[in-house]
Amino acid sequence: SPLLAGIDATRISSFFEAESAHYATARPRSQAMAGDLAQGFYQGVPMHWMRDWPMPFAMLVAEARGATLTDIDGNSLSDFCLGDTGSMFGHSPESVAKAIAAQAGIGITYMLPTPKAAEIGSLLRQRFGLPHWQVAATATDANRYALRVARAVTGRGKILVFNGCYHGTVDETFVRLVVGMPVPRPGLIGQANDPTLNTVVVEFNDIPALEQALASREIACVITEPVLTNSSMVLPEPGFHEALRQLTKAAGTLLLVDETHTISTGPGGYTRRYGLEPDLFVLGKPIAGGIPASVWGFTEEVAQRLDAVRATLPPGHSGMGTTLSANALVLATMHATLTRVMTDEAYAHMERLAGILQQGLSAVIETARLPWHVARVGARVEFIFAPKPLKNGTEAEATHIHELEAAVHLGLLNRGVLIAPFHNMMLVSPATGEADVARLVSAFGDVVKALTA
Ligand code: PMP
Repeated sequence: SPLLAGIDATRISSFFEAESAHYATARPRSQAMAGDLAQGFYQGVPMHWMRDWPMPFAMLVAEARGATLTDIDGNSLSDFCLGDTGSMFGHSPESVAKAIAAQAGIGITYMLPTPKAAEIGSLLRQRFGLPHWQVAATATDANRYALRVARAVTGRGKILVFNGCYHGTVDETFVRLVVGMPVPRPGLIGQANDPTLNTVVVEFNDIPALEQALASREIACVITEPVLTNSSMVLPEPGFHEALRQLTKAAGTLLLVDETHTISTGPGGYTRRYGLEPDLFVLGKPIAGGIPASVWGFTEEVAQRLDAVRATLPPGHSGMGTTLSANALVLATMHATLTRVMTDEAYAHMERLAGILQQGLSAVIETARLPWHVARVGARVEFIFAPKPLKNGTEAEATHIHELEAAVHLGLLNRGVLIAPFHNMMLVSPATGEADVARLVSAFGDVVKALTA
């Protein structure tokens, strides 16, 4: 039978079958409750994507603390998924749990700021270097609002994305390049407009294509992650970010950097670590310990241009909102996260263990002589089914071998380790210990052995 990324296809399916059976045997209570969930929920889960994990049925979580997650059958897992970044600083850090409990007793949502808000503004300013901030409910919302502002202040209608990007459920970013042609991302449901009409898509790391696309001077904004993390990880080639900044400036196009995943790089994100100079900046997911919240910031110049635009408009709805955004609970939690959790010490620990993890996984791959490699941006590590670093979204897409991913993920899960679904991503938190990393490396070695023996 054919080889998929160096692994025999028949071996993958027999391994997956055996692991599925093992998973079910260890989870009688979750399996029984899957029936109850199906009584009330479409697809048997509160969000339909919860079915997109490779397990035969969803595992119900009893509790999670630090970097350990326990299911209702008592299976205890080293959690390297960490809510796909929402709990990247560990589950329920003590200071966050205390802040939530304290605020919960004195009101959760008022539509008015609290004294904590005043402090958060200057904390964000110091940490990320931009002077103006807003709080939203999700990274999706923050991106949506930042793009609105970009269009408003430039008076241009189009945006540019890189192939393979993901910025949340922002309709206008759902465009892909397929054999060089822009198409709506496959699978979209009920799209209001054809997103290819106002969104230009080029490959990451392709400076000539970027330059050509910007030359139309119709593009309000380029939105990107500093490193593409939502397919398989694609790192910027040397000089790419410099060129991106220089070309966007020259074309009168704003640059929006979405740090929602790359905040793994350090306390000020990839932006501060590598001196990026975005006009607009977005961070969601872990900014309030997993309570739905995000922040978006912008330069003084953008603020002045926004003021000028607003001065010409009648008072009315800006198109940016949501009632629960920036509520008192969010502010209390964000304050605790910024002051107590996202610290230099926490990042030093994450960086060190992520380095050990990268080395351990690489050694397993080398020993087995597999055509895979490991990529990393700070505390975010990924094993990728391709022999060398990826250049762009098309190459990243080609590494997704669904059957192999499912088999490896389930194999790891059955050996006590949870990693993020949909790609091969692992996060190291301040609560992750050396024993967790050792457990993951050993489980990975075991799964590789079973697949290659
Ligand atoms: N931006 C990036 C870079 C993301 O990876 C994601 C989610 N994976 C989002 C935005 C959207 O976050 P949310 O689903 O919390 O809105």
